[in-house]
Amino acid sequence: MRIGIIGAGQLGQMLGHAARDLGHECFFLDPSPSPPASTIGPVLQASFNDRVALAILAEKCDVLTYEFENVPVDALNDIAHLAPIYPPPDALWHAQDRLAEKRLFESLNIPIPNYRAIDSASDLTTATESMGLPLVVKTRHLGYDGKGQFVLQDAGQIDNAWRELGASALIAEQWVAFDFEVSAIGVRNADGDIATYCLTQNEHAGGILRVSLAPVDDVALAEQADQYMHKLLTHLNYVGVLALELFVADGKLLANEFAPRVHNSGHWTIEGAATSQFTNHLLAITNEPPGPTENLGHAGMVNLISEIPDFARELPQGCLHDYGKLAQPGRKLGHITLVADSAADRDALVRGIIESVTESTRTQ
Ligand code: AMP
Repeated sequence: MRIGIIGAGQLGQMLGHAARDLGHECFFLDPSPSPPASTIGPVLQASFNDRVALAILAEKCDVLTYEFENVPVDALNDIAHLAPIYPPPDALWHAQDRLAEKRLFESLNIPIPNYRAIDSASDLTTATESMGLPLVVKTRHLGYDGKGQFVLQDAGQIDNAWRELGASALIAEQWVAFDFEVSAIGVRNADGDIATYCLTQNEHAGGILRVSLAPVDDVALAEQADQYMHKLLTHLNYVGVLALELFVADGKLLANEFAPRVHNSGHWTIEGAATSQFTNHLLAITNEPPGPTENLGHAGMVNLISEIPDFARELPQGCLHDYGKLAQPGRKLGHITLVADSAADRDALVRGIIESVTESTRTQ
């Protein structure tokens, strides 16, 4: 089949590799002149809002998907008559608005941190009075990797937070003193077949994912996350891979957000699961049954941000994925996955890699 992928970053590139293995052809749309997925297939260079370019892509392809969360939903709806678009734009609409997303979680009885919608600096004052401090204040739209966030520690920062976040629609969330963060990754096809991966533990720094470890050794948490995943996938009549990010606090799960796409915290599935998230996304959008999702050991994934150190190219154990991007501070350039026989071995290897990355950054 011909698969149209909106966005040609590393997620598009990894989808493209999986598509090639399945015998599909990929066409991309992306505004950048030479994005990572240009190594896989032709890229129509256009903005994500360009209706003409989107229509050209749709007419060329049997099915469309996206790897980038800020594609305008209106633009997708305008071309929806030309080719099926998965995941459904309605799921994307919910994911693009933190308030709609929270209301969706609430309607499905998926627990979330306490929050308030904020439309003015005085709403923020009211929120600090009713919810206490600290609060995490986030833009409702266009936030990613911790961008568009302000941790409000005291009421004297309210005007500053309001200004810094663009005096726009916000939400204020209770600060969660979580024990750790996890993500659940699931997949559903149009026939309603669902498969889920084991629960993944994630470590962020500065809002950016640094490390993922799978599986999380906690059956009760995994079952709970699985239940939430099933609710979301079914309710949204979802098709494709969905990632649900959650906090674990006092042994309970609180949903933070979901991504209607393949996700960085699922990169370990390429080497660490029987079928990768990328292959399963493609199987779902072409309405094939999902491939088996069991893990093949204890997997670890370390993101390489700002640089790819030399040692990463000569790892005795581990697989480097270099996205071929130009190095820039704070940019995700690649990742390393490793799969070990035990959690202890995996953790030791991951810590070793993190120390080498830190060492390499220090000697720059
Ligand atoms: P987000 O953009 O919502 O995924 O947030 C990025 C990261 O910021 C999360 O993965 C957490 O590490 C942290 N974070 C976000 N919201 C909260 C919160 N309410 N309490 C504590 N940490 C948070």
